[in-house]
Amino acid sequence: MFKRILIANRGEIALRIIRACHEMNIEAVAVFSEADRGADYLRQTDRAVCIGSTIPKESYLRMDRIIAAAEVTGADAIHPGYGFLAENAQFAQMCRDCKLEFIGPSADAMRKLGDKASARQIAKAARVPTVPGSDGLVESDEEAVEVAESIGFPVMIKASAGGGGRGMRIARDKTDLIAALKQARQEAAGAFNNDAIYLEKYIDQPRHVEVQIMADQSGAVIHLYERDCTIQRRHQKLIEEAPSPAIDSRTRRDLCHAAVKLAKAAKYTTAGTVEFLVDAKGKFYFIEVNARIQVEHPVTEMLTGIDLIKLQIKAAAGEPLGISQRSVRTDGHVIECRINAEDPYNGFRPCAGRIEKFRPPGGFGVRLDSHVFEGYKVSPYYDSLVGKLIVHQPTRLEAIRAMQRCLREMTVEPIKTTIPFHLRVLEHPRFQAGEIDTGFIERTLL
Ligand code: ADP
Repeated sequence: MFKRILIANRGEIALRIIRACHEMNIEAVAVFSEADRGADYLRQTDRAVCIGSTIPKESYLRMDRIIAAAEVTGADAIHPGYGFLAENAQFAQMCRDCKLEFIGPSADAMRKLGDKASARQIAKAARVPTVPGSDGLVESDEEAVEVAESIGFPVMIKASAGGGGRGMRIARDKTDLIAALKQARQEAAGAFNNDAIYLEKYIDQPRHVEVQIMADQSGAVIHLYERDCTIQRRHQKLIEEAPSPAIDSRTRRDLCHAAVKLAKAAKYTTAGTVEFLVDAKGKFYFIEVNARIQVEHPVTEMLTGIDLIKLQIKAAAGEPLGISQRSVRTDGHVIECRINAEDPYNGFRPCAGRIEKFRPPGGFGVRLDSHVFEGYKVSPYYDSLVGKLIVHQPTRLEAIRAMQRCLREMTVEPIKTTIPFHLRVLEHPRFQAGEIDTGFIERTLL
């Protein structure tokens, strides 16, 4: 097992990993930017190294400085968390070339699955259903029109290197498509340094259901069931829950089986998520793989009682998972709300600033993953996540009620947060009935 892990991240996920390390008797080394100097979670680490200025490009994205910090502090592995360098295959390779284990899949698996068009090819070859669309990348406008006409409009243009809900455009007809293609390429080149795009059929009013997988170095792959992340704004998740209220046990079995098949086909190791869209008839289609631990991983932890970060570290260290598929059990219902420092009454504008009053909720089956406290300053330079509130109850209805109670109890002042917006979603009869799709927020609440 590792002796000392360097955490190449910040905020709540850094704290989450520090906690797992200490429970495993592993030392935790943190890196931080000037903006995070003095942050409370850094005091929990065994060592903390400043790696540069506030902007991510000069600190959390500086591979050379992170590797140097690991070498200086004698770390033997690097945990990338999510975001920043978590899905950067070059960084994974660089770490391993420097005899530092990267806690994630091989650079090769990451490259193959990180590129969405290539992940689709792997899924197809493994006979996992994919959204109807182009066979690989679309090179010309003529080819795009041909594909779109054969699958039928509306279609979605997607950046192959896209992520975080960015790099997607809907085209409703041929004229729309030709105009959108150019913009999509330009956007993709600007945002991801890669203008490769492909086409998918636009699935009408889908649900987003994803499967958590875990794989060790010996080729053993297990799934830890699904999470439903249908409540989104602009393709970004706001609320996640498990089990999915939208699928029956047969679909669940097929979905989880498909995810494992795909992981095996890509020789995937450690923690990953296979994302699917589920249409109104309950048919599912693969969309992409997230080759890292995800923001919403606590949902699965509460549902299964399994610590995913510890398991991920074990798998990266070459140890067997020690958990068979049959021993993975789920219990009750879990809901997670992402509490962001954003003003829901003002276009979800980020609201950086000092938190003067902070009162976390508590009680039966309540978990808050957060790095903030009274006096903490939310930085405008990083994502606006203040904390993840997770509740675990016997049934979905009880989970909704517990979440409502917690959101009313929680105080984060004077900055604006998404708490009041979550309350609006939770009290909506359609949400309560589980009758939602990915367009629910935009259609009903904005
Ligand atoms: P990202 O990597 O940016 O998160 P994804 O491919 O995972 O992008 O898609 C994010 C969200 O966009 C999905 O959860 C869904 O709401 C929407 N989406 C993606 N592909 C389609 C599609 N073919 N039809 C309809 N909605 C889609």
